[in-house]
Amino acid sequence: MYDAVDRILIDRDSIADRVEQLGQQLVSGLRPAAAAGRLVVLPVMTGSLFFTADLLRHLPLSFRIQPITVSSYPGRSTTSQGIVGQTPLPPGLDGATVLLIDDILDSGRTMGHLCEQLKTAGAADVRCCVLLRKDIARAVEVDCEYVGFDIPEVFVVGYGLDYDGLYRNMPDISVLKSSVIS
Ligand code: 5GP
Ligand code: MG
Repeated sequence: MYDAVDRILIDRDSIADRVEQLGQQLVSGLRPAAAAGRLVVLPVMTGSLFFTADLLRHLPLSFRIQPITVSSYPGRSTTSQGIVGQTPLPPGLDGATVLLIDDILDSGRTMGHLCEQLKTAGAADVRCCVLLRKDIARAVEVDCEYVGFDIPEVFVVGYGLDYDGLYRNMPDISVLKSSVIS
């Protein structure tokens, strides 16, 4: 498994430290909505699986977790294709404050599209949180308030991020070898 990667970009200890800090930032931003019973957390599966599990353990607030599954990079593609498949949004979003959590903000198509859908579903406030944000010109501008790390334009795997369904279980975030990309 580890022969597929070139180098570690962000190691597991740095991830854990940053996730804890993000949790503290989220607690102060979301406490009023949670206290009013209006907070819904929407993790975008499968990439945000590990990030969500770690992050939400730093949020001592009341909220429901309603995962949705979105596929945007089918199979062996490493360039953004936009959303190609998605499970429906959960019911009961009218008036809610929604915390949308994804692994990475790249072209912005995924988060941009989901924000639009959430507003159409009646969400009063949509807050975006991503572990990684690529330093590129985005096709769709997304106002992302909570960002773990800004990274250069490389294709990364690990800590939930995959290539062709693999490598999600690597504890660190690493750059995929270009020879693996077909
Ligand atoms: P966007 O719609 O912003 O272009 O892409 C977001 C989605 O593309 C992410 O949720 C993620 O699944 C995938 N993605 C973008 N960049 C990377 C990357 O460097 N590595 C992996 N594994 N997935 C990526
Ligand atoms: Mg994803």
